[in-house]
Amino acid sequence: MRCLTLALVAGTLATLPLRAEVEVGRILVKNGILFTMQADETSPRKGYLLAGDDGKILRVGYGDPPPGIRAVQTLDASGRFVLPGFVSAHSHLYQAATRGLAPDKELGGWLRAGFPYWRASVPADHYFQTLAGAFDLLAHGVTTAFNFNDANGDDVEGFRAELASGIRFVHGFCLPMQGSRKSREAAFEAFYAYTRPYAGKTPFLGLALGGYAFSAGDEDYIKLEGEIMQRYGLYNQAHYLEAADPAEVAAQRSRFGWFRESGELGPRLSFGHLVHPDSAILEQIASSGAGMVWNPLSNGRLGSGLADIPAIAKLGIRIGMGVDGQASADLSDPFENMRAGLYGVRARYESASVLVPRDVLGFHTRGSADVIGVLSRVGTLEKGKFADFLVIDPHRMETGPVYDPYATLVLACSATNIERVYVGARLVAENGACLNPDYAHANAEVLTRMARIRASLDAAPRPH
Ligand SMILES: [Zn+2]
Repeated sequence: MRCLTLALVAGTLATLPLRAEVEVGRILVKNGILFTMQADETSPRKGYLLAGDDGKILRVGYGDPPPGIRAVQTLDASGRFVLPGFVSAHSHLYQAATRGLAPDKELGGWLRAGFPYWRASVPADHYFQTLAGAFDLLAHGVTTAFNFNDANGDDVEGFRAELASGIRFVHGFCLPMQGSRKSREAAFEAFYAYTRPYAGKTPFLGLALGGYAFSAGDEDYIKLEGEIMQRYGLYNQAHYLEAADPAEVAAQRSRFGWFRESGELGPRLSFGHLVHPDSAILEQIASSGAGMVWNPLSNGRLGSGLADIPAIAKLGIRIGMGVDGQASADLSDPFENMRAGLYGVRARYESASVLVPRDVLGFHTRGSADVIGVLSRVGTLEKGKFADFLVIDPHRMETGPVYDPYATLVLACSATNIERVYVGARLVAENGACLNPDYAHANAEVLTRMARIRASLDAAPRPH
């Protein structure tokens, strides 16, 4: 009987082309505890991932790799967590050089303290500030970011730094806050043309709009944003209802209709922060299909308040998370971000079941990718998506043993548990160190440049 079976197998093999039996990839990760973060995943368990030379996932599944899979490199991730890289749906990477800014100020005072630094930055400063911010995110396991380039209009320098860093990114273009409609439109069109040669090329995921006009109260600005969104099919993220200041909250709420009238309100719009909406605003957001981005670290740090995530989720509004700029969240750690949000919401509701670890992990991966329009490419581990993933060791004495993988990952792990960060199947950070060859140079440049800016501000006459 045994001989017969072997003979049948041999006969089958002889009739199949060799190509069908051997699948060769760049890297095979096996034996890890796989978090695909697909919406229907109920429990992470042992699995494997094969990525190809194009940096995309060829195969991913539970159990052992099927026979016939080969890879140039095989990583035995026994006992490790393997999960998608975090997505920060709201970042201001250039702010990495101004951490600790205005530690006792709310949003308005904090902005007033930051503007002198950002306005004193020349384009080359903006380049290195952005590069440092992106390297920091990668080292903390954030492999994709929506990056607002709102400092000086230095979008080309910001874009060059995003490309050089290797982080996957959506570039948030902020229309000029000042100027005529014509000059604003021209600024956008020039930058749009500049980015066209990079369309579809890694690590650029796309161009979007990202502005602040609700604070400025400029309806023409919103109208133009709406027109550009329609004309170019772009996503947009609006800073909306962030600070707790009552006058500002009332003013911004009263302008909500602009989103609808401009044609912005819909699935391609997301609201950054959304800490202080009223129920009528939330219902309109829900029925439009728009999303929101939760930034609990910076909302807590600036005393802005706590977004009512259970109420927002109950209405079916899509939720992503951002680590925000490093000048308002200081540490770009998605674990701290998840816990700050999770614990804040539980404390407010006096309930530990109102939000659970799996929810916030979903927000910071799949949800973030969804609200910024890149879920078909990142945010979960699925065949055809980019092989952006983390390998985390949960078995150190300080974190293990593991009973519930979601709980251990979200409640007990930190960025220090991240052993490896891959973008497009390439290792970009290891044990907290960014491996980009420009890292040391960027670090030195940022320190020198910020010292120069600080000296120039100290020397400037102070207003009385
Ligand atoms: Zn922001």
